[in-house]
Amino acid sequence: MSEPDPVALNPSDLARARELIRAAERVAVLTGAGISAESGIPTFREAQTGHWARFRPEDLASPAAYRRDPEMVWQWYAGRARDVQAAAPNPGHTALAELERRKGEGFLLATQNVDGLHARAGSERLIELHGNLAQARCERCAHVQPWPGEATAPPPCPVCGATLRPNVVWFGEYLPSAALEASQLAFAQADLALVIGTSSLVEPAASLPLLTLRGGGAVTEINPDQTPISALVTLRLAGRASQVLPALLEDYV
Ligand code: NAD
Ligand code: ZN
Repeated sequence: MSEPDPVALNPSDLARARELIRAAERVAVLTGAGISAESGIPTFREAQTGHWARFRPEDLASPAAYRRDPEMVWQWYAGRARDVQAAAPNPGHTALAELERRKGEGFLLATQNVDGLHARAGSERLIELHGNLAQARCERCAHVQPWPGEATAPPPCPVCGATLRPNVVWFGEYLPSAALEASQLAFAQADLALVIGTSSLVEPAASLPLLTLRGGGAVTEINPDQTPISALVTLRLAGRASQVLPALLEDYV
């Protein structure tokens, strides 16, 4: 992967990106695994090490896998939840929390990440499209609770007695419709969308920035690599989120 230093980014691109941020009243942000890469959170593929290397993610993160072997799936998530707890937000997460404070109600951050690092960095106008690893939810009722770290197998729901499961969206499952609709509205109304650290392959999140373009807004992509939306965006900053985002907010008071 090419990872240029942000100072090596074209200065006029940086200046234009800063101007777009300052001028926008409504800003919608989409993040993916790339913004957490520098916090040491592995991508799905990278997470398949050691004992788990024999499995495909689809065979662990799906309703069928959970039905087949709930204990194994539970233990895989317990390990991921521990990894995430041991990690910390990086300057990319912090910069987005700062941008939210400047834009107030005109700001929304939709993330595909399940690591909870945006919330830990202080983001509040936040939609976790794919759920959160640090939580379990009931398979039957609406109960959501912190991940029961001591459990080595899925415990019963304290409310209704059905089985708890990780509070994440699995392969083959729909995103929670309220979360998706709120995100779609924010991107459709945004003057500016920032698309950060996502391969823009996983729908329906990948299409969110297209709603901004269709509504006449601008889209800035921050990713060291090209993605399927690179050719469509207003501006591309080919650098790491943890360096580019703080640089974009420099001098913004
Ligand atoms: P992805 O792994 O498909 O793509 C990551 C993207 O980030 C790539 O395009 C890569 O070029 C870019 N990238 C890498 N390092 C970067 C950096 N320092 N700064 C900016 N960009 C960087 O991730 P995705 O698009 O989020 O889709 C994967 C799916 O897997 C999602 O649905 C997500 O829920 C899940 N997932 C989440 C986590 C997490 O919570 N941190 C981790 C792994 C997978
Ligand atoms: Zn329940």
